[in-house]
Amino acid sequence: MTDQTIPDIVYTTVDEAPELASASLLPIIQSFANAAGVTVGRKDISLAGRILAAFADHLTDAQKQNDDLALLGDLVKTPQANVVKLPNISASVPQLVAAISELQGQGYAIPDYPEAPETDTEQDVRARYDAIKGSAVNPVLREGNSDRRAAKAVKAFAQANPHRMGDWTADSKTRVSSMTGGDFRSNEVSATLDSATGAKIVHVASDGTQTVLKDGLSYPAGTVVDATFMSAAALDAFLADEIEKTKAEGTLFSLHMKATMMKVSDPIIFGHAVKAWLAPVFDAHGDKLAALGVNPNSGMGDLLNRVKDDADIMAAIDAVTADRPPMYMVDSDKGITNLHVPSDVIIDASMPALIRGGGKGWGPDGAESDTNCVIPDNSYAPVYDETVKFFKANGKLDPATAGTVQNLGLMAQKAEEYGSHPTTFEMTAPGVVKMILDDGTVLHQHDVQAGDIWRSASVRKAPIEDWVQLAIDRQAATGYRSIFWLDADRAHDAELIAYVEPLLAAAGVADKFEIMSPRDATRASLETITQGENTIAITGNVLRDYLTDLFPILELATSAKMLSIVKLMQGGGLFETGAGGSAPKHVQQLMEENHLRWDSLGEFCALGESFTFLADATGNPKARVLGDAVETATQGVLDHGRSPGRKVGQPDNRDSHYWFARYWADALATQTEDAELAAHFAPIAKQLADGEAEIVAELAAVRGKPVDLGGYYHADSEKVAAVMRPSATLNAIIG
Ligand code: NAP
Ligand code: MG
Repeated sequence: MTDQTIPDIVYTTVDEAPELASASLLPIIQSFANAAGVTVGRKDISLAGRILAAFADHLTDAQKQNDDLALLGDLVKTPQANVVKLPNISASVPQLVAAISELQGQGYAIPDYPEAPETDTEQDVRARYDAIKGSAVNPVLREGNSDRRAAKAVKAFAQANPHRMGDWTADSKTRVSSMTGGDFRSNEVSATLDSATGAKIVHVASDGTQTVLKDGLSYPAGTVVDATFMSAAALDAFLADEIEKTKAEGTLFSLHMKATMMKVSDPIIFGHAVKAWLAPVFDAHGDKLAALGVNPNSGMGDLLNRVKDDADIMAAIDAVTADRPPMYMVDSDKGITNLHVPSDVIIDASMPALIRGGGKGWGPDGAESDTNCVIPDNSYAPVYDETVKFFKANGKLDPATAGTVQNLGLMAQKAEEYGSHPTTFEMTAPGVVKMILDDGTVLHQHDVQAGDIWRSASVRKAPIEDWVQLAIDRQAATGYRSIFWLDADRAHDAELIAYVEPLLAAAGVADKFEIMSPRDATRASLETITQGENTIAITGNVLRDYLTDLFPILELATSAKMLSIVKLMQGGGLFETGAGGSAPKHVQQLMEENHLRWDSLGEFCALGESFTFLADATGNPKARVLGDAVETATQGVLDHGRSPGRKVGQPDNRDSHYWFARYWADALATQTEDAELAAHFAPIAKQLADGEAEIVAELAAVRGKPVDLGGYYHADSEKVAAVMRPSATLNAIIG
């Protein structure tokens, strides 16, 4: 079993690009922290690590791994928590299956993912894997609300070095299309519970058969509980209609959703799109497709793989493709379409990138084209719709002069949709779904048809109050225009407004805040930043996710450099690095040509905050000196352009870590608050400066050749260390 002790600062073990970067950066951090008596250690929340922890009973003693996520889940409920959380994979089924097969190949006797579990054992295996799937980490760690913004240095750098933005013109045919009825937005009902209660969700079929979908729910007093459903028939009609309209308009068809975070509902909606696109194929060959094990929810990639040897089906697919509008591509060179893999197109990353590019998507021919952006559910689609309309009317944003949109997001204790996976169900029969409280009251009910996707989400009172207080504090600290993105006409938001207004009034600050629908708030925020002013978006959980990609990508070109602080409700600190994900494309590039373009700026920002927090929590003044010096070093990396380049031959992630270490050591050697630290770091700073030519040459020497990491999801740590730490000179100085 792995180590269970808790270091002063937990630095998470994750996946893909950030994990590779950690192999280079963490030894530097540990060595520097050691000088201040601060321990920085790892806890494993990677996809592979979580799989191994869940199947310890299938492993040899040497292979067994602790459930670090559970350990961290407990830690974040204590005032001692100080966790630097890097992005991890929220696995779709294809990713999960790939990780399982890699681990099996490495000699871990874990079971296959049961696609159609039957026996009790298979059901158990499936339940364990389902708990690992999708957004399984963040909801456990986020025991607080979120405060995300660009650090001052980062924003100033972006203004001084504005990135390229695609032009927007009034005649762009790009648009956002969304359902006008039958979706989650229009079917939503919501209520705030007066007292604590248990609840269950029951389906009553038309013939009277009752099925308990979920029992044992429990809500404290004051919880806002929603219920809603997506009509499968309305969704299918909408998708068919949008495919036709796209063809008529001469644009690309694209679907944008979040199959990772909304791990139950969105893969099903994605599956509807695959079926709508290939409707004639499913009509003509439905039985054969089923026999071949095709599950549209797994995407076109999986489907093509299963039918590739069937000439009839392949011919039918070709015929449909010829008749369809061109599709938005994930990778046109490799023929990977928007509908290949459910987790390939993630709305919070895909829509901002498309908007930053002037509304253009990539077509099958590899050329840019205007695009119909299909976002079935209308709850948050207006944010993108309004942004597109704003730029069509006003032209692109100027990052050199634009102000900033900061975000305060309600997310503690699985607030809102984040916690709704266990309470989302695909209906198997027509009937009525009821949410029934312990005293028999039917809180919510909906008439449903087979195939409809019903879900309930909730948010507790304490997180709401904490979120409003955070808003009051940040508004007071900044004086920025502060907007609650809540729609009085939406059932859930109306319940939140009923909390927000009295809390603001009681604090005497009602006049300092505005409350607007997401559409109006989007326009107001874009107007504000266009004038060079700043604003705070105070939002629910989903908009927290969406906006902390949208505005940073427009303002800074990337969300990777964001400061992302979670003030844990029990007093601890969780420092998320950036707002981006784990950048799988970066890993591909490293494996092909040994260049890692991952930018660790998000890690630098989080690290500085983490040291400062440690100093406040423990009274260790050396930790504060370390933290202040991290900030100086981060500024140095930006000012001197030491961030990684995109192309092989340019400095990469490893170079930027060298420069970070050097600026950090310089700052520590020259500060006057702690003579001991200054004396310790003076020779290190000198060695790093004197070694520059040698270190840079050693880092450059290895580039351009493919590398072997011994695995993708579960790489060989020694091989990774060898690849990521190729400078003997630097390694010797770091020790
Ligand atoms: P992504 O990993 O953020 O990647 C999208 C693009 O953003 C990258 O290809 C890269 O652009 C850029 N990027 C992101 N972080 C960067 C960094 N530090 N330095 C430089 N560029 C950076 O988004 P994704 O492809 O949608 O998601 C990939 C995986 O991450 C998924 O498994 C997803 O579930 C997970 N994810 C995790 C979290 C989290 O744990 N908090 C958040 C979001 C996503 P270029 O390719 O142009 O360089
Ligand atoms: Mg996001």
